[in-house]
Amino acid sequence: MIIGVPKEIKNNENRVALTPSGAKELAKYGHDIYVQTNAGSGSGFSDTQYEEAGANILPDIKSVYGRSEMIIKVKEPIQEEYGLIREDQLVFTYFHFASYEPLTRAMIDNKSICLAYETVEKEDRSLPLLIPMSEVAGRMSVQEGAKYLEKPLKGRGILLGGVPGVRPAKVLILGGGIVGTQAAIMAAGLGADVTIMDISLPRLRYLADIMPANVNTYMSSEYNIRELLPSHDLIVGAVLIPGAKAPHLITRDMLKLMRPGTVLVDVAVDQGGCIETCEPTTHENPTYIIDDIVHYCVANMPGAVPYTSTLALTNATLPYALQLANKGWKKACQENKELKLGLNIIKGDVVYKGVSDAFDLPH
Ligand code: NAD
Repeated sequence: MIIGVPKEIKNNENRVALTPSGAKELAKYGHDIYVQTNAGSGSGFSDTQYEEAGANILPDIKSVYGRSEMIIKVKEPIQEEYGLIREDQLVFTYFHFASYEPLTRAMIDNKSICLAYETVEKEDRSLPLLIPMSEVAGRMSVQEGAKYLEKPLKGRGILLGGVPGVRPAKVLILGGGIVGTQAAIMAAGLGADVTIMDISLPRLRYLADIMPANVNTYMSSEYNIRELLPSHDLIVGAVLIPGAKAPHLITRDMLKLMRPGTVLVDVAVDQGGCIETCEPTTHENPTYIIDDIVHYCVANMPGAVPYTSTLALTNATLPYALQLANKGWKKACQENKELKLGLNIIKGDVVYKGVSDAFDLPH
């Protein structure tokens, strides 16, 4: 198959959908790989590394789309790319169709085959192509939180791990899923005193079994959250209710319960945030202060660590990309239910219910 890897053109997106190592794997099966020049530079991969892995470098985005039967990308296509995608071309990337109608309409009109990373789903209902980004964001949340706890950045001026003779900081994590678990591992590793809250008792049992001794579990409820806020230094928001907006577990009036310089990192900001006062921010301007409480609400946290994020994402996407390339999308989706659930639009027909429901389209 002829596979194209364009350079991401969305603002500040430095990830790339295929690494030189992935290109080598695809090349081994005899596929032709075309990578746009500098597509990997933001993640630390040079054109020469791709060439050595067996890929060909093309000078511009138009020639990559023009030649390829399958396009592998990271972010959803933006308007400049709509016209480059052709009838019958397979596009394997994050789409998030339900949140943006113009993209959905454009992909219906160009009659391409759109296989969305975010809806590839395993039998246990986990989303294997979203998990890596949650892992990155979860680990980053503590790194960022530790930084903004520093006094010059308006934090309380407390070191997460303390030092011998001085107590460590207290970290409260709301939600014990992928993000929350990774955040707890990082905070615990730095020596903080960590509490992780969830509404799922089986999940709390599991976490209590696997976490180190400096992580406690606590049932999530408004009463219990109010009890803990006055004594905690860093609070990480990591809840998710699938398909719904995040619940506001910390409301505006609760900011008064916290000490000045407490840091809130609301990772769930991309689903509306679980802290009422959180508004999406960017890596250029990640924080703002309300009532002396530092808010960090970057909606695309993994974008700041493209090297790690690219490797984490491509570790998960490559096995699927190989199946699509080796068998063609029809056979690959017939044989693999996980991939089949990734199909969102096929040659003008919306085949994913969440997308057709979002815009009242036939399904
Ligand atoms: P997940 O489904 O693995 O975990 C969510 C957890 O929240 C579950 O364990 C669930 O039981 C728990 N929960 C639900 N309601 C709760 C409540 N009232 N109190 C406490 N816990 C509750 O989800 P995840 O992969 O960890 O993702 C968490 C959030 O992070 C999502 O909104 C996701 O979109 C977001 N995210 C953001 C970024 C970013 O860059 N900002 C990156 C990746 C993921």
